[in-house]
Amino acid sequence: MHRIPRGPKRFGTLFLLFSGLVAMTVTGCSSSDEPVNDSAQLLGTILQISIRDGGYSTTLTDRAFERVAEIERRMSTSEDDYESTELLRVNRASGDEPVSVSEDTFEVLQAAREFSRMSDGAFDVTIWPLVKLWAIGSGGTSVPPEEEIDTARRAVDYRLLELDEEEQTVYLPEEGMGVDVGAIAKGYAADEAARILREAGVEHALLDFGGNIVVIGTKPDGTLWRIGVQRPDAERTRYLGIVSTSDKTVVTSGPYERFFVQEGVRYHHILNADTGFPARSGIEQVTIIADRSIDADALSTATYVLGVEDGLSLVESQDGVEAVFITEDRLVHMTSGARQYFELTDDEFTLAGG
Ligand code: AMP
Ligand code: MG
Repeated sequence: MHRIPRGPKRFGTLFLLFSGLVAMTVTGCSSSDEPVNDSAQLLGTILQISIRDGGYSTTLTDRAFERVAEIERRMSTSEDDYESTELLRVNRASGDEPVSVSEDTFEVLQAAREFSRMSDGAFDVTIWPLVKLWAIGSGGTSVPPEEEIDTARRAVDYRLLELDEEEQTVYLPEEGMGVDVGAIAKGYAADEAARILREAGVEHALLDFGGNIVVIGTKPDGTLWRIGVQRPDAERTRYLGIVSTSDKTVVTSGPYERFFVQEGVRYHHILNADTGFPARSGIEQVTIIADRSIDADALSTATYVLGVEDGLSLVESQDGVEAVFITEDRLVHMTSGARQYFELTDDEFTLAGG
């Protein structure tokens, strides 16, 4: 959640090339009996909603985008975009006092702490000191000095985060600590936008929140939605496989979304709290298929840091969640249930273990 312009900005229908996923069927424009295609720039990316049922208008997509804007105003940690948000207040009060937050923020922090525990800190909701120091995607262009990485790294520890359910307050006991929900808030926002559409009666829709896709129902003709998983390498405009599904979310994480290059080395935005450096686990891209986008978003980041072996066992331990990992050696590793959704279509990649 960095560099986010305020308020929904309208774009025409855009084809996303940098999200890792491509919704392969977005077309058309809107009138009352026709599909509604609408987009906005929020959460540091372009959000697209395509409602395929007749009888809706951009009044509904506006409501969904306004809900996302509200989530952004509460949880952004970008000081460039916001003077104050709930999470900026929490981080500024570290070592000082608990800060009361909205139900939204409390719920996201609770979920983020749970994923931090589950992944043994590979995902760490208190990663903010490192995110701020590296500033990848928000102005960072070089590797920070070693002492500063060390100091930031030592300020990261999700076990110290205090969430008081009764008071709905958040407390970080050491000065310099901070929370960051960049790895999970987009998923939460996508779930909320989908909820608004479903509650309005929408039965067939696709939401593409820059790498977080949610599909509602099937396509209007009853066939499954087809989501292209892009190649993680220089051939980004091609997809290497297709996820076919209904009523699910599909989320990717990869090192190519935000990065800088120094002396030929690419430094990307998913950080390892143990080393203080961008994670290098051998994974080049992760795709998670799940029921809730908040889970898929957190797990995509967590497994990217964990690597194939631990990542697969984390996902296998979750009901109704599947994963497809692409490793640097162009192998495709999948959880046992992923085969029912994912089809590899690019012969330059090989399924691991057969
Ligand atoms: P995603 O694109 O969902 O994988 O999330 C990446 C974003 O999550 C980064 O831009 C940071 O804001 C944040 N982040 C980076 N590393 C971690 C980590 N190890 N645990 C939790 N959040 C992280
Ligand atoms: Mg994520």
